[in-house]
Amino acid sequence: MQILIVEDETRMAALLEKGLRAEGHAVMVAYTGASAVETAQNCTFDVIVLDVMLPGFDGFEVVRRLRERRNQTPVLMLTARDAPLDKVKGLDIGADDYLTKPFLFNELVARLRAVSRRGPIPRPAVLKVADLTLNPATHQVFRNKRPIELTLTEFSLLELLMRNAGRVLERDAIIAAVWNTEESGEDSNLNAFISLLRQKIDKDDAMQLIQTVRGVGYRVGRGGE
Ligand code: CA
Repeated sequence: MQILIVEDETRMAALLEKGLRAEGHAVMVAYTGASAVETAQNCTFDVIVLDVMLPGFDGFEVVRRLRERRNQTPVLMLTARDAPLDKVKGLDIGADDYLTKPFLFNELVARLRAVSRRGPIPRPAVLKVADLTLNPATHQVFRNKRPIELTLTEFSLLELLMRNAGRVLERDAIIAAVWNTEESGEDSNLNAFISLLRQKIDKDDAMQLIQTVRGVGYRVGRGGE
């Protein structure tokens, strides 16, 4: 799963990140409510683990802002305050589940599975990573409102990477998905198409969105995420 952890206590955040990565999940961390809302709007997550007590605005406000923006990503809220009123408030404004600190890591993992399973997660019609948008229906791509012309193969490749934003896709998996073949003869083709995409998308921007993960494959996302 793609999981966003929102927790300002760095030790707790690091612990959760490490544990969930060890379980095979792709994890991003946000340390404030504002960056949580921004990250959740820019990338697609299967579930958000959200601490209530945050600097700036709190976890309740994060959920309220996400739901207001029609972001329906399942949210599991964490709190140290075992107050029934808070639970009602959290569930009222659109959180999907609640876990009180301290909790067992195994319980968190089990709850995350349950929360993310609940019903289909509405996918955004338009894929968005930072200031790059791709509309699968109209085949339009924009970088910072600048239209970008792509060939069909370039478009398929970018769509695949953007649907998996933040996740590293292995070369073989990309080739199988885009060229519909298991043969490794497409290997140099992939290199060529990635460099074409880079020229069109990243050339004029300071923020490079297409990243090479040496020896593995490629990823689309903001640097360092
Ligand atoms: Ca906190």
